[in-house]
Amino acid sequence: MLRRRTPLAALAVAGLTLLTPAAAHAEAYTPGSAGLGDPYFPHAGNGGYDVDHYDLNLRFNPKTDVLKATATIAATATKNLSRFNLDFSGLNVRKVEVDGKKAKFRRKGQELTITAAHGLAEGGKFTVKIEYDGKPKPVNDPELGVTGWIHTKDGATALGEPDGARTWFPVNDNPKDKATFAYTVSVPVGLTVLANGEPRNVGIVRVRNGWSSVKWEMREPMAPYLAMVAIGKFKVSQGVAAGVPNITAYDPVLAKTSKHLHKTTAKATEWGAKYFGPYPFSSTGGIADKVDVGYALETQGRPVYDGDVTDDLLIVHEIAHQWFGNSVGPQTWKDIWLNEGFATYAEWLYEETHNGPTAQQTFAKLYKNKGAFWNLKTGNPGRNGMFDWEAVYQRGAMTLQALRQKIGDDTFFELLPAWAEKHRHSTATTRNFIDLAEELSGQDLDPLFNAWLYKAAKPKL
Ligand SMILES: [Zn+2]
Repeated sequence: MLRRRTPLAALAVAGLTLLTPAAAHAEAYTPGSAGLGDPYFPHAGNGGYDVDHYDLNLRFNPKTDVLKATATIAATATKNLSRFNLDFSGLNVRKVEVDGKKAKFRRKGQELTITAAHGLAEGGKFTVKIEYDGKPKPVNDPELGVTGWIHTKDGATALGEPDGARTWFPVNDNPKDKATFAYTVSVPVGLTVLANGEPRNVGIVRVRNGWSSVKWEMREPMAPYLAMVAIGKFKVSQGVAAGVPNITAYDPVLAKTSKHLHKTTAKATEWGAKYFGPYPFSSTGGIADKVDVGYALETQGRPVYDGDVTDDLLIVHEIAHQWFGNSVGPQTWKDIWLNEGFATYAEWLYEETHNGPTAQQTFAKLYKNKGAFWNLKTGNPGRNGMFDWEAVYQRGAMTLQALRQKIGDDTFFELLPAWAEKHRHSTATTRNFIDLAEELSGQDLDPLFNAWLYKAAKPKL
């Protein structure tokens, strides 16, 4: 993300667990937890299963604001489950089925709790199908801004970081649980739909009774907060960059964006592949829309920009996230600097390689900061400080430049693609990064990372 400038998960109450006859002899079937213990979002995500695939069938009418949808979620039980939760807010749940059989459900806060007709055995695959409808409402967090299903003048755009996905589909909303996605989106004829990934049948739009329907697919694993659908009036451009399709779109009212978005996205994708290794997804792109949220978001494979995009560095930032944040995701939100520090550093490096100031010059300028700037913890900025410009973005990028100075250019430019490669399509922690940097450099780097990430003081050079 880039702006223009609780208590632990409630433990499941041990109640009566009804065992199926077969299960009575095996290990007990117990409820999946209502959270995954993320330090900042303890209720986000749920325990006891892993999602493999989300198939979202969405029908949206901007005139009435009504979304009518069916989510079909394929998952694997990671323990014997008597029931399990999904994150889901607002909207009306009409029907829930597990493996084709009607299931019981109840709702409390952001938790949708589902009890299947039978217990779900550890290691077994299951499919949950949820029919729902209503007028989606975005999350309006006083500290983190507006996310979720956001109504626009001509449609809607869904943006999920960090916990807005639950406003438009039932989800295991934790960055640890990546899955593939397919969308079938129906909208009134005349509107265009974009999403993550690629259209399944390029150019094929089914039209029926004034509604058109298109399919999009994200075939690489994706954290739910990166799921995106954009509905509205768009001008779409298609090309190729770094060997993959480049699909960009802009709302025609954003005239200044015009060809700039398409060209710069291609340029940034190719530049990134040079420094960070192979581009991790099967397409690239970008969408400029009037969303009025005041930030751009690196939605997987196709970032969304709010308003006219004329700033190359903003595009470089969001494209750099495709490697750092999207493909290599944070295991918990505490490690958000692995996303934002790296994407900000990519901006510095882009400037350095395009006749701008060197990353060291940018670093030196910031290092002159006095006072409150140093009273920050990059490696644990707190829930409300996740997107703190100075702590997470600037000091995060400075951490990487301090590392580059310490281990030298050769090792540093080996480390960036090695990091992207080692945790490709997965998640990682700050510890994993320190370990890899130490392995490649042969140096003890704990003192450097401790000073830059975990101490609220100005690190010595
Ligand atoms: Zn960002």
